Amino acid sequence: MGSVCSFKAGFHDKEQLGNKGANLVIMTRLGLPVPPGFVISIEAYKKWKDTGIPPESEIRQSLSALEEEMGRALGKGLEVSVRSSASVSMPGMMDTLLNIGDYAGVQAAIRRIFESWDNLRAVEYRRLNNIPATLGTGAVVQAMVYGNRDDNSGTGVAFSRDPSTGARGLFGEYLAGAQGEAIVSGTHTPEPLAALRSAMPGIFEELAAIADRLERHFCDMQDIEFTVESGKLYILQTRSGKRSGHAAVKIAIDMVNEGIITPEEAVMRVTTDDIRGMLHKRLKAGDYQPFVRGLNAAPGAAAGKIVFDANGALAMARKGERIILVRPETNPDDIRGIAAAVGVLTKRGGLTSHAAIITRGMGKPCVCGAGGIAIDLEARQLTAGNVTLHEGDEITVDGTAGAVFVGVLPMEDASMTPELETLLSWADGFKRLGIRANADTPEMVLQARNLGAEGIGLCRTERMFNAPERLSEIRDFILARSSAERLVAVSHLLKLQTQDFAALFRELKGLPIVIRLLDLPLHEFLPAEGTVTDPRVKERIEELKETNPMLGHRGVRLAITTPEIYQMQIQAIERARKQVPADVSIMVPQVITSQEALNVKQLLKGSKAKFGVMMETVRACMRAGHLAEEVDFFSFGTNDLTQAVFSFSREDAEKKFLTTYLEMGILRDNPFQVLDVKGVGRLMETAIFWARRAKKDIEIGVCGEQAGEPRSVEYLHGIGVDYVSCSPFRIPIARLVAAQTAIKGKDRVSQVASAT
Ligand code: PEP
Ligand code: MG
Repeated sequence: MGSVCSFKAGFHDKEQLGNKGANLVIMTRLGLPVPPGFVISIEAYKKWKDTGIPPESEIRQSLSALEEEMGRALGKGLEVSVRSSASVSMPGMMDTLLNIGDYAGVQAAIRRIFESWDNLRAVEYRRLNNIPATLGTGAVVQAMVYGNRDDNSGTGVAFSRDPSTGARGLFGEYLAGAQGEAIVSGTHTPEPLAALRSAMPGIFEELAAIADRLERHFCDMQDIEFTVESGKLYILQTRSGKRSGHAAVKIAIDMVNEGIITPEEAVMRVTTDDIRGMLHKRLKAGDYQPFVRGLNAAPGAAAGKIVFDANGALAMARKGERIILVRPETNPDDIRGIAAAVGVLTKRGGLTSHAAIITRGMGKPCVCGAGGIAIDLEARQLTAGNVTLHEGDEITVDGTAGAVFVGVLPMEDASMTPELETLLSWADGFKRLGIRANADTPEMVLQARNLGAEGIGLCRTERMFNAPERLSEIRDFILARSSAERLVAVSHLLKLQTQDFAALFRELKGLPIVIRLLDLPLHEFLPAEGTVTDPRVKERIEELKETNPMLGHRGVRLAITTPEIYQMQIQAIERARKQVPADVSIMVPQVITSQEALNVKQLLKGSKAKFGVMMETVRACMRAGHLAEEVDFFSFGTNDLTQAVFSFSREDAEKKFLTTYLEMGILRDNPFQVLDVKGVGRLMETAIFWARRAKKDIEIGVCGEQAGEPRSVEYLHGIGVDYVSCSPFRIPIARLVAAQTAIKGKDRVSQVASAT
């Protein structure tokens, strides 16, 4: 193709024409009522960007052809619109120009559209959504039709299914006597599509049939912009519709049931953000009176302080405040403010307004079109009835119900819906990676089971000692000066630990559990200075004080010098197992050499528990082959391993310099959140290689925080670990990503197979 391509040409490569352009070509080919026009390609944009030269003669030719087709000349009954067309959806971020009636105007408009690729809000949107700036945009030039022509004209947005709930059937809004911008910008609150149905039933039916056809063609829910001009329907644009997490999952499942997509495609369609959005908090049941109601534009509930503009929102969010952005309506300039807010409230705008679409995509609660509020931006206050609230006052937004409340209402975590259970059960059928949870209490085990964990990959036993009645017992142990004193202390702990383990095992309902023996950072368990009066205790605390406790006398090192504590824990596990049978593995933290592991293994004589070590020191990774010979399994503790590989103390790094490193781009991601593939990952790969060479069937897991982060899960699948273990609330996302990665891998394998 050349730099310019008519809708009628049939060429519809998205990479060249952008989404809008390619879909207009497809709709024209399907014989749908699309006003004629042409697309200036993304290639032409890139050339313009390099040289400043637009494809002038091709544009001139295409305009002549358009005039011929319309039987009217530019400015003499023919006007055109010029809109952006990027290959990724960036709703409302770039400019749109309407009613252009001369050649010079078209040329200037195209230039403006191209320039708008780099406007602030587009740049910000790309940053938030990880879209590369190098993609660029095409431009669509299309004959104008007029929704404001007469009483039989209007404009609207239709979704082929409800983007909030996923329910089947046409959903959308219509504004009589207006052009499309009025709806999309949110300056007018349109009426539901039922208004169109009663005013022009024939047009409504035609629109419904087209929506159905487009959905089947694109195998996805469509967001369609249309205009009615003097009783005739025109389709101006179609694209895959943005939707809430709930809707995404429901639509994916319904489309499988309707034979439109396969379960594999359904699993690939749903995103981690969708699931995150579904697991949003909601209001606890109760009798609360909203001070205003509006449209339920994006589901979930959030509470925060009122802020009236995007800059204020950013400033407050930087200070760590939770804020609700309150605007008369939002426009693309508010995008940074919406990103910084936990929820959004607008006075104007419908369910397809800018605020609604963006928040739904971001998974944040939003109430739109709350006409009952008066916003005074000067005085920085809002009023509804007899309630007046100022900037900084707290409100709760319930985007599921479309209601807003004064103050912070009690909320609860969402649980899995039957639809999400179905989708994730399909996902489980595709994934290879095991997904376990880190859990230390029966409540967490229950939560983990409910979210689909296949076992507990890390039970941190030191957390069991945090309760006040145990703290004093463990302190007695730490402060003890002799083995005899230590034995007295642990004998008290034995009973408590046995109860703890039995309660945990009861909640497992047959799932396996990996129990980590104590990894006690001594300093966290010692009494705070100033609270101790006994001079002997003071002296002992002084003796125990460490310069660098995270690299000090912790983990297995403590057990080597004072084995009574591990002996007690192993005994407690065995006693609990007699009460409640359980599939238990025992794991040792902070190991550097097989000699340490062997020492602990001695204590395990007679136990049937599997025995393993945490891989969280660099030396353990370098000695993986040797260590593997002594154990049944490894579990990478990527929190400590990251500290060790970077020589960062996590707390100090996050408090002092990591933000600057990230802002300056010295590091791309926080390595305590996203696994550092190039450093930590390399070390893990080396360790896995030598471990499997020494013991082919050694079980390998990962239990640091990164183990539930999507990109890290994908990587860990690739380097062949057997399972990841993460916080319970991250289990659904890990299940989805593990399945998507396996499916992508299969595609890659079959591509290679068909290429060779
Ligand atoms: C780790 O180091 O990754 C780990 C899981 O242990 P903890 O976070 O308890 O040190
Ligand atoms: Mg650790």
